Amino acid sequence: VNATPSHHLAQFKHRPACHIEGINNNNLEERPYLQQQYVCQRITHTDMFALTALPPGVDKAEWLASNTVAFFKHINLFSSALSEFCTPSTCPTVCAWNLIYVWTDDHGRKLKCSAPLYFDYAMSYIQDLLTDEDVFPTKTGSVFPTGFVFLVQKVFLLLFRTLAHIYWSHYRETLALGLHAHLNTLFTHLTLFCQQHALLEPEDTEPLQDLITALGQQGWT
Ligand SMILES: [Zn+2]
Repeated sequence: VNATPSHHLAQFKHRPACHIEGINNNNLEERPYLQQQYVCQRITHTDMFALTALPPGVDKAEWLASNTVAFFKHINLFSSALSEFCTPSTCPTVCAWNLIYVWTDDHGRKLKCSAPLYFDYAMSYIQDLLTDEDVFPTKTGSVFPTGFVFLVQKVFLLLFRTLAHIYWSHYRETLALGLHAHLNTLFTHLTLFCQQHALLEPEDTEPLQDLITALGQQGWT
């Protein structure tokens, strides 16, 4: 694919759908991450509500910004640990049950690309945003731009999809590496943070809603 990494993400609200017939959504063989022996695994039993809530006296935008940076670092690191398993031949598209995520470039062109390329674009996009002083100011007294929350929402959608791809396509490798308890912890932290700060729409999280519900049933603390 001859395309430059995108700095714009379109199609947040319109999902380019690719219907795949014959998938049984209730099949635990296809979704081993829902099995009770795995869903209960977590590396910490910290109170996740307290962890994600805005601490008293902290500026909301600063709280969103610092968490965005932290989640990006963790998820980037996590996906690199699995990157050798995610190749154009193992993952020619980024599929989520009945959807295929396409990347939209600067010129509005939709690129149907492999998962490694999609997440490469995604990580570059986020990295550029986080290092842009006009968007994520680091200097004392700087103000966050109008539309800051919208950009944070875009970042969290991409981070959510990164973890979702691991659950959908690389869960067996995650188990083999012994990373599943870390993955559940990171995913629980991310989804609760997004819930508390209204960062993702229900349609964004729908492909993994069953997992979110199952993890919630384990208790957040
Ligand atoms: Zn993959």
